[in-house]
Amino acid sequence: MAILKVARMGHPVLRQQCHAIDPQQITGPAVQGLIRDMFETMAEYSGVGLAAPQVHQPVRLAIAGGEADEEGHPEFRVLINPEITVLDDADRLGMYEGCLSVPGMRGWVERPASVEVKAYDEKGELQEFALEGFPAVVIQHECDHLDGVLYVDRIEDMTKFAFEPEAERFLDLAGEEAAAEEG
Ligand code: ZN
Repeated sequence: MAILKVARMGHPVLRQQCHAIDPQQITGPAVQGLIRDMFETMAEYSGVGLAAPQVHQPVRLAIAGGEADEEGHPEFRVLINPEITVLDDADRLGMYEGCLSVPGMRGWVERPASVEVKAYDEKGELQEFALEGFPAVVIQHECDHLDGVLYVDRIEDMTKFAFEPEAERFLDLAGEEAAAEEG
């Protein structure tokens, strides 16, 4: 187990198209070790998600949170070679997003509010599920990383891009429709 170094915006690994993982390799030691290290790294930095390129591995693997089990404990999904289908592009959800690769910043991004996802899980089983609301936003943020896209690319109003203390002071970070996300 290891806490990995997180690549920050400007590092080219965050801007490349990541490679698919051979599904046969998912249960092997290399992928399983990377998943374990990514969970440890995400917990260390209190992320709600983490994508492999953020730890310098340009492969199509991400962890996404934002869901909770019946007792309210956070749940995370491992996504390998994920494919996202937007259910209704007109139904959008905006929130202040953050990213462990863009530390100390928040920016307002609007995304489709519901998506269908097809991805292999950590056991190498193909899963299909639908998400809406906050978990749908988290998963889109993480899957963007696999295509070299950062949330800052999706900010339309740059007056809503700020350092965290200023965002807390001057922007409606805690507003009812402005949950924050960091991944
Ligand atoms: Zn991110």
